[in-house]
Amino acid sequence: DAMKKIDDDISAFRSSLQISLKDRIEMLEDLHDAIEQDSFYFCYQPKVDFEGNLCGAEALIRWKHPVKGEVSPVEFIPIAEETGLIVPLGHNMFKKFCKVVKQVEDKQRGILMSYNLSGRQFLDPSLLDVLMGCIKEAGVSADSIELEITESTLMNDIESAVQVLKELTKHGFKVSIDDFGTGYSSLAYLKKLPIHTLKIDKSFVDDLLNDADDIAIISAITNMANALGLTTVAEGVEVEQQAEKLHELEIDMFQGYCFYKPLEESAFLALLK
Ligand code: C2E
Ligand code: MG
Ligand code: MG
Ligand code: MG
Repeated sequence: DAMKKIDDDISAFRSSLQISLKDRIEMLEDLHDAIEQDSFYFCYQPKVDFEGNLCGAEALIRWKHPVKGEVSPVEFIPIAEETGLIVPLGHNMFKKFCKVVKQVEDKQRGILMSYNLSGRQFLDPSLLDVLMGCIKEAGVSADSIELEITESTLMNDIESAVQVLKELTKHGFKVSIDDFGTGYSSLAYLKKLPIHTLKIDKSFVDDLLNDADDIAIISAITNMANALGLTTVAEGVEVEQQAEKLHELEIDMFQGYCFYKPLEESAFLALLK
């Protein structure tokens, strides 16, 4: 019986391996096709201050698959990242992003538009040239653009990160550390990094109303951010009480379903004054 159980487990394991490998290969083929056919677009999720004023928005990539429908970036970004496809895809998407930034600049001043950079993109030697080329072509200013880079990407190779960030900020781009609190930042390095914003991870916001540890962590982060002159944003704010508590803890900006879900481009542009 025990042998039969092991045989069953092995056979289940073998087929799960095959399925996931098959799925991954299929996804990779689909990604290639989708890049060629340009099937990706951005939604824009607003960021607001405590009064609910629009401060900025984050571009979030979307893929409408011809058969599977909407595929989540949580599924395809890691595969694009591992295979390096993220570099050409990211270039193409940044061009689209800049066209929207242009419309935002023309309509309302002082709105900061955020674009997510993954690890491969961040360490790509042509990054700065690509970004500068796109902003020139669209006629927008780097000041209007914030690059969201995860804490784990930055901490992966801190010395290179400092060099790349210096170049980016020298040219006017703002930088936000995404998913902050999950990536084991060395606090000593935080001081060295030329960054503007700490974006506190949703995992600290989720349980904020029931968990004193999360409050203590957020409060430590905002104290440090204030001392270093950094702006703070909380992501994944779903209910009003969370926003109130976060405001009490001196968080500057809010993003989440409580205020806005990611919006189609036209719905986002319609919010501008
Ligand atoms: P992220 O940058 O941390 O983005 C936040 C994610 O949380 C988004 O999921 C957003 O839709 C979701 N979200 C926002 N507010 C709420 C809320 O109140 N409740 C809940 N439950 N979720 C909320 P999304 O769009 O699926 O993106 C997931 C991740 O994919 C992003 O995490 C980012 O790491 C990556 N990603 C998205 N777009 C791009 C892109 O253009 N380039 C790269 N490199 N990565 C991207
Ligand atoms: Mg982000
Ligand atoms: Mg985030
Ligand atoms: Mg996140």
